[in-house]
Amino acid sequence: MTTDSRARILTGDTPTGRLHLGHWVGSLERRVALQDQYDCYFLLANMHAFTTRFDKPQDIRADTIEIVKDWLAAGIDPDRSTIVLQTEVPAIAELTWFFAMLLSFNDVMGNPTLVHELETKGLKDTYSFGFPMYTVGQCADILAFRPTFVPVGEDQAPHIEMCRKAARKFNQLYCNVPNRTEDDDYPARGGVFPIPKALIGRVGRLPGIDGKQKMSKSLGNAIFLSDSEKDVQKKLNRVQNPTRNEQGVPDLATGALFTFVDAFITDPAHNADLRDRYQRGVIMDGHVKQEVAAAVQALLAPMRERRAALEGPAGDDRALAIIKDGVKRANATAEETLHLAKKAMSLDFGRRTLA
Ligand code: ATP
Ligand code: MG
Repeated sequence: MTTDSRARILTGDTPTGRLHLGHWVGSLERRVALQDQYDCYFLLANMHAFTTRFDKPQDIRADTIEIVKDWLAAGIDPDRSTIVLQTEVPAIAELTWFFAMLLSFNDVMGNPTLVHELETKGLKDTYSFGFPMYTVGQCADILAFRPTFVPVGEDQAPHIEMCRKAARKFNQLYCNVPNRTEDDDYPARGGVFPIPKALIGRVGRLPGIDGKQKMSKSLGNAIFLSDSEKDVQKKLNRVQNPTRNEQGVPDLATGALFTFVDAFITDPAHNADLRDRYQRGVIMDGHVKQEVAAAVQALLAPMRERRAALEGPAGDDRALAIIKDGVKRANATAEETLHLAKKAMSLDFGRRTLA
């Protein structure tokens, strides 16, 4: 049995590259802040990385290690939080099958984030059978840990909705929870699964430096947490400026620059002053970018320092040891969930123990 009585949080990242500023404002910042208050599980979705990178197993392994380093650098503490390596937690794969039966084909294929990804990631006619499965897998990632909250960026909202649907249906079908039960009451009415809530980050969708898509590991438009000072500056200089009308007055709602201003210049007086001077033409785009860069550098400097201590084989060994320890703790919780779920499904043929 797991003994921590705090409510749980589950969230994670896919090792399709290193972490970027979008991760920070969308989810990571909050994870770091909630580590004491909640029993936290942070997932390395390495199985799901295979849905788009099945031909690059070594890259997935390398990125898995890099993400652990990014997490440590950002302030995730593996003593307080559990790191979950997806491929070493078999209960997740097993629950994926069960949830796949509770969701319709249309639930999956009509998921707006999935549809958008097929388009923006250029997968349209070539994606594998396994690619859409990741959305069902994500229901299992989450529910295996029976969390109350899932801190994520805006793009994940449809996935969390799917997960909530699967949890309600499981509880109603296999645990006799009445259909009209309030979401918060499912566990008290005998449901195995809580109906987890998305906690959308302070900035739900940080655009990429292209100003078009969201900042994304896979789209070549990201400022990485591990980028050098010089690269951060270079990339910020490329962020789209607001457009101006014929009189030269800028529309701050256009371009991506002021989304960056709001994301990183968080002092309200400083933010308002910057907007005001820009609108009056006292300062121009370049100046605003300098100020955003200063704020981003201040955020990243301590991360860079902590990351520098993790470079090289010793850092890799540390990350691998953290993963190994996390696997043990993650399996304790996920196996308990699987046991409860199987019991509810009349699949109680003896409880297994993982070595
Ligand atoms: P990929 O391109 O492989 O999908 P990604 O950059 O979208 O990678 P994920 O691992 O899919 O990153 O997402 C991890 C978490 O970070 C999710 O909660 C997601 O919502 C959040 N996130 C990712 N990008 C952004 C962004 N640009 N703004 C806010 N949150 C984001
Ligand atoms: Mg993504």
